[in-house]
Amino acid sequence: MRKFILSIIPFGAIATAFQPLAFAESSDDSIVLTFLGTGAPRPSHDRYGPAILVEAGDNKILVDAGPGMRERLFQAGGFELLTAIDNILITHLHFDHTISTPGLWLTGWLFGRKEPMKVYGPPGTTEMMGHFKAAYRWDVDYRTLVGVHKEGSELLATDLTPGEFYLSDDLKITTFSVEHMPTNTETGESLGLDGATYGYRIDYRGRSVLFSGDTRSTSDSDIVKIGKGVDVLIHETQVPAPGNSPEAILANISLVVHTTPEQVAYVFNQTKPRLGVYSHIIPPEIGAEELLPMTNYDGEMLVAEDLMTLTISDEITIGRAEGRGTDIFTEAQVVDE
Ligand SMILES: [Zn+2]
Ligand SMILES: [Zn+2]
Repeated sequence: MRKFILSIIPFGAIATAFQPLAFAESSDDSIVLTFLGTGAPRPSHDRYGPAILVEAGDNKILVDAGPGMRERLFQAGGFELLTAIDNILITHLHFDHTISTPGLWLTGWLFGRKEPMKVYGPPGTTEMMGHFKAAYRWDVDYRTLVGVHKEGSELLATDLTPGEFYLSDDLKITTFSVEHMPTNTETGESLGLDGATYGYRIDYRGRSVLFSGDTRSTSDSDIVKIGKGVDVLIHETQVPAPGNSPEAILANISLVVHTTPEQVAYVFNQTKPRLGVYSHIIPPEIGAEELLPMTNYDGEMLVAEDLMTLTISDEITIGRAEGRGTDIFTEAQVVDE
């Protein structure tokens, strides 16, 4: 039986116990994570597409923008949260990581954000954001013509290269390549597709969290080096489908670019995070009962659920984000449906 030393707030008690962390402009050194979506491309009522909100002091950054992200953000923090986010880190350009980018860019702006939306990601991010801008030019022109504020309607993009940069004075982002590009399954050679796929590590006042992105992690992975001693390491996984049915064979094709629980155990054992976390779970119906016994790791770990929060401080506290903001919009800003 796995032993948890985390202080766990039962989900049912959160409505009253939860502090409004999303809006605490605190000077403390905690990092708060909100899992907006813990699934992958396959639709699921329980696991929306990958998206995790990171809050650290005044910083609010979204890591990936999967399907349903806008709705989960609204569920977690109402209009206040929807309009407060103006930084998105994209791990790679698969649709399950990017499709809600225009949704948050435009919705946040329409309901009050005055800052441009800034999107960071691998090579190709600027090109993709350029297409989104072109696709919604008519909408932005329409709404600004009839009186919606112009500020905040911009969509800015940056193509990152591996390395470090500071989003603010005390928040460092480390970008590193992960193994998710298509390769020949026999030779391991690249199939020639341009671009890159990234993971990120975020450091803030002595606290740290690492996001694996989508990857097939091996002993050579940068994740093993960069993740050493991190507070929370969030890793994707794919559980192989059993048998030789056509469906199982089809499902298992993607195992060459994802990580099995056995391989995740290797990463956790090499890096020894204070807490190992599963998110981006394939297939989405897999839960803790299956995943934890498959993962031979002696340290603390858990399987993320949508709307789960983790507060990384001297302790790591689990909570649930729901109803932290208002869902009634009172300003008469909406001019067209
Ligand atoms: Zn994915
Ligand atoms: Zn992917």
